[in-house]
Amino acid sequence: MEKYFLYPRKSTDVEDKQVLSIEAQIVELRKYAKDNGFEIVDTIIEKRSAKSPGRPKFNKMLERIQNGEANGILAWHPDRLARNSIDGGQIIYLLDQNILQYLRFPMFRFENTSQGKFVLSIMFSQSKYYVDNLSENVKRGLRQKLRRGEYPGKAPIGYYNDLRTKTIKIDKKTAPIIVKAYEMFATGNYKIAAIADFLAENGIKKKNGRTFYWTRVKNILTNVFYYGHFAYGGEVYEGKHKAIISKRLFDKVQAVMDKRSNNTKAIIKQPKPFCGLLKCSCSMSVTATTKVKRQQNGNTHAWTYYHCTKKSKAVRCMEAPVRSEALDAQLSAVLKEYQMPASLAAGLCELIGKDEKAEEAQTSKASASLRAEIAQLAGKQSILLDSYLNQDIDRDIFTAKKAEIMSRKKTLEEKLERTLSGQNAWVEPMRKWIAKAVSIRKIAESGDLVAKKCVLAEIFGSNLFLKDKKVVINDDKFLSPPLKNQWTALRAALAAPASRRGISFVEGPMRLELMTPCLKGRCSNRLSYGPVVRLPSDYTTK
Ligand SMILES: [Zn+2]
Repeated sequence: MEKYFLYPRKSTDVEDKQVLSIEAQIVELRKYAKDNGFEIVDTIIEKRSAKSPGRPKFNKMLERIQNGEANGILAWHPDRLARNSIDGGQIIYLLDQNILQYLRFPMFRFENTSQGKFVLSIMFSQSKYYVDNLSENVKRGLRQKLRRGEYPGKAPIGYYNDLRTKTIKIDKKTAPIIVKAYEMFATGNYKIAAIADFLAENGIKKKNGRTFYWTRVKNILTNVFYYGHFAYGGEVYEGKHKAIISKRLFDKVQAVMDKRSNNTKAIIKQPKPFCGLLKCSCSMSVTATTKVKRQQNGNTHAWTYYHCTKKSKAVRCMEAPVRSEALDAQLSAVLKEYQMPASLAAGLCELIGKDEKAEEAQTSKASASLRAEIAQLAGKQSILLDSYLNQDIDRDIFTAKKAEIMSRKKTLEEKLERTLSGQNAWVEPMRKWIAKAVSIRKIAESGDLVAKKCVLAEIFGSNLFLKDKKVVINDDKFLSPPLKNQWTALRAALAAPASRRGISFVEGPMRLELMTPCLKGRCSNRLSYGPVVRLPSDYTTK
């Protein structure tokens, strides 16, 4: 007689997540028993995990079987009975003793034979294996995901996780900023802090609104994700996501990074941006020294000082060194005196446009008259030849007259060539200069020391000096008239009080001439006065 205990089991543990609910197991098992004509003695509901031995209801059930209340167990699957070797061994031992005779599972066919018991023991040990390897399975699934090129995490800045397609897509808003940061750093002219500022200016910053720490910026600048790979668990994988930078740009950035990081010698050897720009008041060159302080935690801090080379044997220089930051602030302030306000630039460009058009009209008029004159001479030459051939004139007159016409023609031809090639030649340099003058404001406000040096060198040449830790301009030679270049002219025009400007430019209120002799070559008569910057009378500096 087959008498069964019905044993549904489901725990809340993760390994039972996929198993039918206890209610469903009961329904299915009752139906199975009815279909096969099994007698059910009792239903023993278990809600404990079978991972480790010690389920009270399971143990009680085995006890009752030993007492002869039933001789069979009906369960959904062998893994409902045991997921550990001790419980599994108990079941098999009872089967060996013939105390337990029948095991029935809708999902698994068991026969009480030596072969059947062998398979069952495998099922039990497999259930155990399943538990043991559950976490391993999760990892395996992850590894498969990684091999497929799917990054299993939050997308870095520049990308976003598309939850709908479960892929990582390019964030059109932030990606260009990341690319720009890479490009900036690759030039070698920016420190990581400057990149952090740039990112912050463009809205990429910490949640509390502060600028990223340099470590975070460094992480961004060394993330292989941006060129199409990704690192996970210390390993690099080929990603499915689209790259936003080239491997080449990435490598450039790494080269700059390597040069700087952990290499204080490299810090010292880096050329200092302001070297060669200034001279000491003793007329010797100014050089820079970087002092590095190593902290115990491995961080290094570097300070740069600019100071006299003290190479003069005649003068004993007493000038003190200046911190790079202090010098930068002073030079930026000096630079700002030469920034052209956008409103003025717009006015100038408009006038240049007018001048350009007027000049075009003038040249076309001039070249037309030259062409006409050349054509006339060619006609004369032809008539002269005819006259000579008709023997109206003799050979001596012919040759003399011909030489005269040809000489005149050659002169005019060259003049025509000059007119055409010289047309508006000053416009492009002028426009570029205005753009540069406008950009000074941004350069002065930026941390781009190299750019500052370039503009300062163009404006001042070798007229910047360092005296008592202050930047001094050689007034006598540079700022006093005659003005040296278009920059000093611009500064003078901007600095002039509006009243004086009114008097100076009374002869042509809107007639603005920003013609520097060097730029607009033909105004040779202005050379002695230097460049002229005239502001529109309605222009105000504020
Ligand atoms: Zn000196």
